[in-house]
Amino acid sequence: AVKQPDHELDEPFYTQCQEPAVEKPRENAALVMLARNSELKKALKTVESIEKHFNGWFHYPIVFLNDEPWSAEFMKAMNASVSGVARFEVIPKDEWTFPAWMDANEAKEAIAKQGRDGILYGGLETYHHMCRFYSGKFYTLKALQQYKWYWRIEPDVDFHCSITYDPFVEMAKHDKVYGFTISLPEEPMTCPSLFREIADWKEEHNIPTTELWKATVTASWVPWPFRSWMSRFRHRDKAGDGWSLCHYWSNFEIANMDFFRDRKYQDLYEHLDKTRGFYEERWGDAAVHSLALAMLLNSDQVHHFEDFGYRHDWFFQCPANAPGGQLLESKALGDFPFNKERQGGIGCRCECDGAQTRNYASYCLNKLKQPNTSKRLGPIGWFKTW
Ligand code: GDP
Ligand code: MN
Repeated sequence: AVKQPDHELDEPFYTQCQEPAVEKPRENAALVMLARNSELKKALKTVESIEKHFNGWFHYPIVFLNDEPWSAEFMKAMNASVSGVARFEVIPKDEWTFPAWMDANEAKEAIAKQGRDGILYGGLETYHHMCRFYSGKFYTLKALQQYKWYWRIEPDVDFHCSITYDPFVEMAKHDKVYGFTISLPEEPMTCPSLFREIADWKEEHNIPTTELWKATVTASWVPWPFRSWMSRFRHRDKAGDGWSLCHYWSNFEIANMDFFRDRKYQDLYEHLDKTRGFYEERWGDAAVHSLALAMLLNSDQVHHFEDFGYRHDWFFQCPANAPGGQLLESKALGDFPFNKERQGGIGCRCECDGAQTRNYASYCLNKLKQPNTSKRLGPIGWFKTW
């Protein structure tokens, strides 16, 4: 086979403003937001942002998920703000709780202990339910069965650039399974045994090692005689190789649900659920998704939406505008090869400053971005975070 030149791998689908193809067919897709009634203001902010920058042209339905009945106020405000259909769904009680094989009191004790230990969100029972839900039952939820693709959104996020093409259509066309914006390292104390569980499952099921897996797992620098000794430490597999802790941040995801509904992923989820790690530790859905993707996909099936301006909490991705972005003139950026690649910019009408707010955590972006492209940074790029 002819080797593809690597610059063809995982380029942005478009690098400047397009005339939105509003007459073209859509994919079978929905925007999905899990939220609480109390988050109305923040949820509204997100919906207004995505309607203004994308959905005002494409009119995809937005499905709102809640573990409690929706308030009339929430539904009224959303109905007034969406350009497509808004659907309000309640997650069945038994899909938002401890698994049947866990004693609720023991689980609550484990959660309280994580709170005392100062583990991020570890003391919040609802947060554990949320992570477990997004890791598994989300994909088999009755309310979402009719859709093949989802775009996950959250209260209080911003989209900074116009998205003038249909990412679902492009992902389908390019055989992509999963799209992300920001990648960063997981809090190690939330998941001491997650990586080992997944690595063991991989071994048991004879899953071949992909490029993505290799990129996510850092082969140990420890000499062979000491490797099995090393393997007793957290975030290492039986061979002593470690997980970089890098993962795709799941508050933004555009993905094909077939992957997650497939027996392989569901098996893995069931296995993880059996170990009780969603409660005895505080495994995040982002880490679970990322490690599963790393194990089961080829690197060209994951897409980095580097042309999307996006913010959640204090983490940004801000592309410079195309064409002729100011990126190169910025003294702040320095003379790194990675920056030169961005000459001219790639975003459309971005309202953020591409010279100030680059993607967070180059180290993890570098790890998880197409492992076999020349766009990965050399070691020097690791030190350049914004
Ligand atoms: P963070 O982004 O990790 O800081 O976590 P968030 O608090 O933003 O929660 C992630 C997502 O889950 C957001 O969409 C929240 O609205 C949602 N969420 C978290 N906990 C609950 C809950 O108890 N009930 C509902 N309905 N949504 C929740
Ligand atoms: Mn959030």
